[in-house]
Amino acid sequence: MAVTTMPSLDAHRLRADFPIFEQRFHGKPLAFLDSAASAQKPRAVLEAMTTFYETSYANVHRSVYQLAEMATEALESSRETVRGFLNAASPREVVFVRNATEGINLVAYAWGLSNLGPGDVVIATELEHHSNFVPWQYIARRTGASFRILPLDDGGELRLDALDGLAGDGRVKVVAVGVVSNALGTVNPVEQLAAWAHDRGAVVVADAAQAAPHRRVDVQALGCDFLAVSAHKMCGPSGVGALWGRAELLERMEPFLLGGHMIRSVGDEASSWAELPHKFEAGTAPMAEAVGFAAAVDYVQGVGLDAIERHEHELAAYALGRLAELPWVTTYGPPADRRAGIVSFDVDGVHPHDVAQVLDFEGVAIRAGHHCCQPLMRRLGVTATSRASFYLYTVPEEIDRLVTGLHKARKVFA
Ligand code: PMP
Repeated sequence: MAVTTMPSLDAHRLRADFPIFEQRFHGKPLAFLDSAASAQKPRAVLEAMTTFYETSYANVHRSVYQLAEMATEALESSRETVRGFLNAASPREVVFVRNATEGINLVAYAWGLSNLGPGDVVIATELEHHSNFVPWQYIARRTGASFRILPLDDGGELRLDALDGLAGDGRVKVVAVGVVSNALGTVNPVEQLAAWAHDRGAVVVADAAQAAPHRRVDVQALGCDFLAVSAHKMCGPSGVGALWGRAELLERMEPFLLGGHMIRSVGDEASSWAELPHKFEAGTAPMAEAVGFAAAVDYVQGVGLDAIERHEHELAAYALGRLAELPWVTTYGPPADRRAGIVSFDVDGVHPHDVAQVLDFEGVAIRAGHHCCQPLMRRLGVTATSRASFYLYTVPEEIDRLVTGLHKARKVFA
């Protein structure tokens, strides 16, 4: 008989890796249900950054002394770690940026300004985070391209059947899609969208800010052309992320930010650009942050991305089940097996900010607002939702505390 070993994850044990959980808030242990906004940091990441500062710190790439070479080696080996994490073909395709937002802006400006014009079509999805929506809307407007929105069905899934009609007889040049929605948790069919886009000669810009922390992200399997991630959502530091792009596209693009390090030579009249990825890395690199990013990759890979994904499915199913017991709560989005560990909901008659405030006094941290998804909020017919989001350190007891807190919020406000 075949034995299948399911990956397992012990969230109670993993919590000990995170110093934040030693602290109390309003006298209560922290139930941190806001990891989709930013994740907490394990000691391994904090220590990797401290060690770098204490033993290997100097500016990179610009010196021949031993310490600067050590710093350069640390930065480049972090790039190699991120390359492996994304399964990119080469470290030349991995550009360190400040965050996913900057990575997408890089593509919108450096690729979009030179490749879009009247008659072209840019498609973004209705559940896109503003980071992969607003830059495309803006660059489309600047270049005269048409900006169109791929709608959702009532279950919170993308309507791929609407693609052909949406494209009409326009030249589709860009399809911008999030791999996982930060508001609904929906896991989007990026591979199918990429196949459709490539048939039409378009490039696919994938926002993996919300996917990379929670499931395997393989740029070659996804079939996208650009993909952006932020380290801070996957246990890494703020201030660093990565943009992956196909080398042949990155090579043909103009730079985005200009200045030191990104040049080959600077003449009085004109300058030429450095090789990839340095052409896109103007100024001093986020060195310690990149080291922390690599430590975060090692940490989540050590826990196991399959195990993290399974753990989040279990938590999402548990949370949806517990919330379904409350007739005065409405939840949004697809079933648990089609989503990451994110649950958006509404409490009848109580504004999400009031819900979040009552929960805060219970030591439960959730997010209330539009989640940088105003087009999606319009589709749902709300201005804001409450959102609980889970990660590898989330335990079911925290979801129970959420439910207890919701009863209190309703009592106080409804
Ligand atoms: N895309 C998604 C799906 C996100 O959840 C976020 C963060 N909320 C972003 C993009 C932007 O990430 P950052 O602010 O790190 O650039």
